[in-house]
Amino acid sequence: MRSDTVTRPTPGMRAAMAAAEVGDDVYGDDPTVNRLQAVAAERFDFEAALFFPTGTQSNLAALMAHCGRGDEYLVGQEAHTYKYEGGGAAVLGSIQPQPLENEPDGAIAIARIAGAIKPHDVHFARTRLLALENTIGGRVLPPAYQREATEFAHAQGLRTHLDGARIFNAIVKLKVEAPAVVAGFDSVSVCLSKGLGAPAGSVLLGSREFIAVALRWRKALGGGMRQAGILAAAGLYAMQHHVVRLAEDHANAEYFAEGLRAIGLVVEPPQTNIVYVNIPTQHVAGIQAHLAKRGIQASIDSRTRLVTHLDLPRTLIDQGLQAFRDYPGWSR
Ligand SMILES: *Cc1c(COP(=O)(O)O)cnc(C)c1O
Repeated sequence: MRSDTVTRPTPGMRAAMAAAEVGDDVYGDDPTVNRLQAVAAERFDFEAALFFPTGTQSNLAALMAHCGRGDEYLVGQEAHTYKYEGGGAAVLGSIQPQPLENEPDGAIAIARIAGAIKPHDVHFARTRLLALENTIGGRVLPPAYQREATEFAHAQGLRTHLDGARIFNAIVKLKVEAPAVVAGFDSVSVCLSKGLGAPAGSVLLGSREFIAVALRWRKALGGGMRQAGILAAAGLYAMQHHVVRLAEDHANAEYFAEGLRAIGLVVEPPQTNIVYVNIPTQHVAGIQAHLAKRGIQASIDSRTRLVTHLDLPRTLIDQGLQAFRDYPGWSR
């Protein structure tokens, strides 16, 4: 339950990978990579797409395509592109992050964005980009906010990037078509290796011109892969077969949350496939050890994140709940 990244390729996905037609993608010759890029661009209604080995590299190439040296991007304190990517934008991109507090729903208040845009003055970095994330900590960014924030950013002359690592969870939750959840963004990064279950890979979406710049940065960042069609085939399979079923992960998250509440734990209502539960600090180490003994891998903390996914059918969810119930330390 550590993450939806632990999913392993299914037999059908492995068969698709084994059968993939391949070529040298650095020359643009891999037909399966090209097909994945075309399918993704069409599905999200973008001009172009580019396949990356990881979401971290896809986000970084996007930031570097939008921002130059001495530019800055506005980003949430909790955002992956700020907090969980090794500081890559600053370290490798010479781009200054301007982190801003996230609201409880994951949004960044428009007033905060407005207040952080720097005047044109030699004292300041040039504010170029607003970066948002959906879903963020399992929460779906409110569609009305998405419209308001991207319109505001564009009116201020900023560009907009969406870290849509788990965008398919938002699509399934909102019951909308893909283009609706990415409307207003100049670029979007989508992970295929989270709940979709591919072993690796992300897709960056943007205009033809933007993707041409991102392609240069992908090469510079070491992301030019050769017979990458084997991985792209997994991504194509995932987009075809593993999107609708995300609803099961969401239902399992709700079910798990209810079960934990019944034990008396405080659980945040899950919106998609991520459950946050408060574990009293005196039980953190005990529960971690108790679950490990049952073969359950979870990162227990005072605010524990538990993630449902493809490889966790309801029977395993029940075993997980039973393990929480059985923890002998509750009575202490
Ligand atoms: C996982 C993730 C990424 C990218 O992760 P990689 O492990 O580099 O593929 C980016 N943003 C969010 C929100 C993520 O969850």
